[in-house]
Amino acid sequence: MTSPVVAEDGGAGSADDGAGPLLELRDVCAAYGPYEALFDVSLQVRPGRALALVGANGAGKSTVARVVSGLVPTTRGAVRFDGRDITGRPAYEIARLGLSQLTEGRSVFASLSVEENLTLSFRRALGRRRVAGALDQAYAAFPRMGERRTQSAGTLSGGEQRMLALARVLVLRQKFLVVDELSFGLAPVMVHEVYAALERVLASGTSLLLIEQHVDRALELADDVVVLSKGRVVYHGTVAGVEGRIGDLVLGRPAVGDSAGGQGDHGGSGGDRGSRGSGDGPRPTA
Ligand code: ATP
Repeated sequence: MTSPVVAEDGGAGSADDGAGPLLELRDVCAAYGPYEALFDVSLQVRPGRALALVGANGAGKSTVARVVSGLVPTTRGAVRFDGRDITGRPAYEIARLGLSQLTEGRSVFASLSVEENLTLSFRRALGRRRVAGALDQAYAAFPRMGERRTQSAGTLSGGEQRMLALARVLVLRQKFLVVDELSFGLAPVMVHEVYAALERVLASGTSLLLIEQHVDRALELADDVVVLSKGRVVYHGTVAGVEGRIGDLVLGRPAVGDSAGGQGDHGGSGGDRGSRGSGDGPRPTA
């Protein structure tokens, strides 16, 4: 196991652009019972930016997403969001701070119509009087949702269900969106549409943490990338800084000329970014 590779340019969340991170994980460890899944994971997402989180199956990507949303507790380390320490806070409180998570699973109420789904979220977040305006916005952004406003969400196609979930995020202008394999199982044309919608969400000012099997698509959208291997960060930096090496990093192959191996933090505000020391990845503690 090599030390984390950090981009020559300082990488994501570095202090060079003057903006502090919106989301920051510092030396986060997490476990499922006796099974340790994350080891000293540190990463940062800057306001208005997208960070792609990539890694092989079982590397710990979804666990990071769950830690961020408060669904899995940390066993060590800290999570900060929008200037607050949210370590150990319950998921509903984190959601109230403007952080949403969408997964490939059903993120909608299947038995309710498209309009009922949207109305429910908008009424809760905005109050009854602003629902009509929010619906107009949602249908303007996603005309297909307008066409299907009376259809049960459960009978929408997988891609349309993602659109419905993204319409809520776009209209409610969430500060942060964690996207875990949102395009899983979709036909290529729907993957394209989901990405077009994510681009709009990003352009509206929402920051993204993007976990995606279509790594190339994720890297097209993202500014920065973190590569996880066996629960540890092996790269945290800009997408440009890892060009051509992503496959090697994901598969744990040292590339020719790779500067991994003792490279320290290249400045930035994140302190000790990535993992430290070596290890064997996820393992039972018992
Ligand atoms: P994939 O790309 O295959 O979805 P991932 O990178 O998202 O993988 P995680 O789902 O975060 O990986 O899993 C990280 C490790 O934690 C894996 O070894 C997995 O088996 C283990 N794990 C995940 N969820 C649980 C759970 N509920 N109980 C026990 N172990 C779990």
